[in-house]
Amino acid sequence: MKIIVTGGAGFIGSAVVRQAIESGMDVVNVDALTYASCIENVASVSDHPSYVFEHVDIRDRAALDRVFADHRPDAVMHLAAESHVDRSIDGPSEFIETNITGTFNMLEAARKYWLENRKPDDFRFHHISTDEVFGSLSSDKNIMFTETTPYDPRSPYSASKAASDHLVRAWHETYGLPVVLTNCSNNYGPYHFPEKLVPVVILNALASKPLPIYGDGSNVRDWLFVEDHADALLTVIKRGKVGRSYNIGGENECSNLELVKTLCDILDDLHPRESGSYQDLITFVTDRPGHDARYAIDPARIREELGWRPSVTIEEGLRKTVQWYLDNEDWWRPLQNRDGVGKRLGTG
Ligand code: NAD
Repeated sequence: MKIIVTGGAGFIGSAVVRQAIESGMDVVNVDALTYASCIENVASVSDHPSYVFEHVDIRDRAALDRVFADHRPDAVMHLAAESHVDRSIDGPSEFIETNITGTFNMLEAARKYWLENRKPDDFRFHHISTDEVFGSLSSDKNIMFTETTPYDPRSPYSASKAASDHLVRAWHETYGLPVVLTNCSNNYGPYHFPEKLVPVVILNALASKPLPIYGDGSNVRDWLFVEDHADALLTVIKRGKVGRSYNIGGENECSNLELVKTLCDILDDLHPRESGSYQDLITFVTDRPGHDARYAIDPARIREELGWRPSVTIEEGLRKTVQWYLDNEDWWRPLQNRDGVGKRLGTG
């Protein structure tokens, strides 16, 4: 099976690329290499005969047509996006252009290719999206996002992802394009760009800098280990039902404050400070405007229909992640010099 993976030099896309190559697939990695990318994320497979890189921007429709014609994929896994909520608050236009117009271009390029090849039934366009499209939940633990939860996006990022989900469903209903969709919870793990909460906390802790917690830290997320997510995505592209969407969660609900305290405990164990605990560095900062209170995924559909469940608990996944950052300073150190990294963004 040959797949185009867009955004394969990013955090989740690179995990998909690495696992897909390991599982015997042919991969065409399509990425514009924005500030959030790191092509070294796929260094372990870059010389593999089944791997090709295309330095292409999904806003460039002609380039996408050329990529489809040259590589003739069996499926597309579309992950390329602007992904940082705080940056979407400061500058939403790139989120509209890449996440909405870029997805439109991907759909049209895929549809052209699919039509030219007489509409193969087994072609797939897999759109990777977020649980943030569903809005914010109350603290009632009995209520979770299901695949039929109405859309209620509240940030420029989640609104742009919601728009792209609607386009993908429309291309299926209107043109018959064989699509599948997934909406996942917050990912963490190796190769996470150092502007997101988990790597910020690990790297600030190692530098004895304050560990910033937005608001009172009570915002709840369902944390998903990135390698588990990539495994779930490859399960869906192979066995997901056409036209269907699947929610992917880590079965690991916890508040931001609990998450940071767990990270501190792991760091205390793996890399102790000279005195005191890393928890002493926790600092509460101004909240993000419109900060959603709680996200939680009901994973029943993917579990019951495709037999998929996450493989790690949050403690196991975070321990692997902390160890990876301790072992890979050469990877993260240069990324800290990228534009905006280490600065407080998105205060509105
Ligand atoms: P990321 O920011 O780490 O990587 C995005 C990649 O897309 C980068 O390599 C970047 O260069 C590329 N890209 C951006 N704009 C592009 C363009 N115009 N043309 C081509 N390539 C472009 O993102 P991520 O965290 O790996 O997220 C991947 C996908 O998963 C996104 O669609 C995101 O919305 C979704 N998602 C992420 C999370 C999460 O917790 N990280 C949760 C739910 C859903």
